[in-house]
Amino acid sequence: MNTGYDTRLGRSLTIEQYKDEYGPKLDSSGKTRARPSVFCLACQGVLHTVGEDSLTSAAVWAHDPDPHVSCPVKDTGSARYELLAPMTPDNGAAQELRERFFANWPTHWGHIRKIANYADINTLIGFLGHADSTNFWAHKGLQAWHIPYIFLATCDFPPPTGVAGTRRKNWLRFRFDARVRTLEDLWIRVLPNLTFLCLYYRKPRTGEPTPAHFIDMEAIALDSTFLTRTFAPPHTYATRAMAKAFKL
Ligand SMILES: [Zn+2]
Repeated sequence: MNTGYDTRLGRSLTIEQYKDEYGPKLDSSGKTRARPSVFCLACQGVLHTVGEDSLTSAAVWAHDPDPHVSCPVKDTGSARYELLAPMTPDNGAAQELRERFFANWPTHWGHIRKIANYADINTLIGFLGHADSTNFWAHKGLQAWHIPYIFLATCDFPPPTGVAGTRRKNWLRFRFDARVRTLEDLWIRVLPNLTFLCLYYRKPRTGEPTPAHFIDMEAIALDSTFLTRTFAPPHTYATRAMAKAFKL
C-alpha cells in the first residue's frame, strides 16, 4: 500500500514522507537506523517498507508477518460482510425504520455520494431489495444512520462508466476496522473510535480487484448526524429509478 499510519504524527505517510521525517534506512555509519513503527489503518498491524532503495520499482508498505492478525486489506472480495437475517427480529421497529429510510432516502443517498463519488443508484436499489428479502430492517438496535455505512461496506463500487469514468478511475471498497467481524458488531458491540475505511483498487482489465490491485486506503470519520444536514438533491434519473423500483 502507498501509505502507512504514523501514530506519532497522527497521519498517513508515503515512504518518501517517512524518509523525509525519520531519515533513510541506514544512518551515517551504515547501520540500520531505529525509526518509529508505522501501522496499517485496517488491522493496526506493523508495516515495513518494501523496495525503499529500489531505483526501478515504487516503494510500498507491506505487513509484517503475523499469524494472529487478519487484515481486511489482504482479504479477497469473498470475505466481505454479509447481510444476515436477524436471529430475534424486532418487526415493529423494522417497519418504522424502513418507512423512515424511504421518507429520507435522498439524504441517505446524498451522504453516500459524498463518500463514494459516482455511486450508482442501481447498487442502492439492489441493496434495498436484498435488505427486504433478509428482513434486514428488523435487527434490534440497528439505527437509521448505520444504513449508508452498511450499504457501503457490503456493496462494490467499480469506476463509473461513460464520461464520469474519467472523474473516478479507482475501484472503491469500504470496510470497518478489523474489530468489526460481522455487521451486527456495529450496533451490538458499539466499538469506541471505530474506523471506517475507503480502500482504493486499480481497475482490473477483467473481473474484480484482488489484493494485488490494492493501492491505498483512507480513514473516513463515521457521522451519526448526517440526517440533520442537507445535500444536493438526487439526479432525476436516480429519483425515477427509486420510484419505479419501490413504488414511491
Ligand atoms: Zn492491515
